[in-house]
Amino acid sequence: MSQKINIAIDGHSSCGKGTLAKYLAKELGYLFIDSGAMYRAVTLYILNEGLSLEEVNEDPAVLGNIKIHFEFDPEKHFYETYLNGVNVEKEVRGMRVSKFVSPVSTLKVVRDFLVSQQQDIGKDKGVVMDGRDIGTTVFPDADLKIFMTASPEIRAKRRYEELGKKGVHVQYQEVLHNIRERDHIDSTRAESPLAKAKDAITLDNSSMTKDEQARLSLSWAKGVIQSLTIQ
Ligand code: C5P
Repeated sequence: MSQKINIAIDGHSSCGKGTLAKYLAKELGYLFIDSGAMYRAVTLYILNEGLSLEEVNEDPAVLGNIKIHFEFDPEKHFYETYLNGVNVEKEVRGMRVSKFVSPVSTLKVVRDFLVSQQQDIGKDKGVVMDGRDIGTTVFPDADLKIFMTASPEIRAKRRYEELGKKGVHVQYQEVLHNIRERDHIDSTRAESPLAKAKDAITLDNSSMTKDEQARLSLSWAKGVIQSLTIQ
């Protein structure tokens, strides 16, 4: 039997990490986890409850009221995010959450809360997880780490088109501004900033098609699995 591995995919906002992670999970028969959706769901809870960041920091026990899970919709071929049993997939992708998610993600109490859940999900291997700190903090021992990047303009265009397809209508400039702002907050925060793990492979997909990056990454994953299975 082939050896199962964990795959960590990190990188800037809207690089196509989720698309690649989903593809690898499907091809390998692994579980796909969108860690960004978990930060988005926590953000939605905080907004809905009208909590301030200071209140969450001072009383992290409030996070105990948050239950996040994912359900696969076979028709849409998509994992949808649930917050306390309610499907919040569309809400967590909207600009209301996007504008607040990076400040929420700077809180150590929020990161500790989610990282322990993410590590628990990965303990038996066979997980592809995408985010900002998967290769550095969540799975520092992941067998394959990919760090994705592309220019902010290309990423904004992709995110703008993706939101349009989901029926979320926004201005391109607003998406670009949000991407730049999130990149800045994510890379400069004190707690597990977005950074390339030393042993991660960089994948700049500015001028690559989805198929090209998918084929290349799958060959990396299969190579690692094979080398571990032979040992
Ligand atoms: O991946 P996505 O863009 O949906 O993530 C939303 C936000 O959640 C990021 O901009 C970042 O602030 C935060 N995040 C994080 N660590 C992760 C995943 C996401 O801080 N592992």
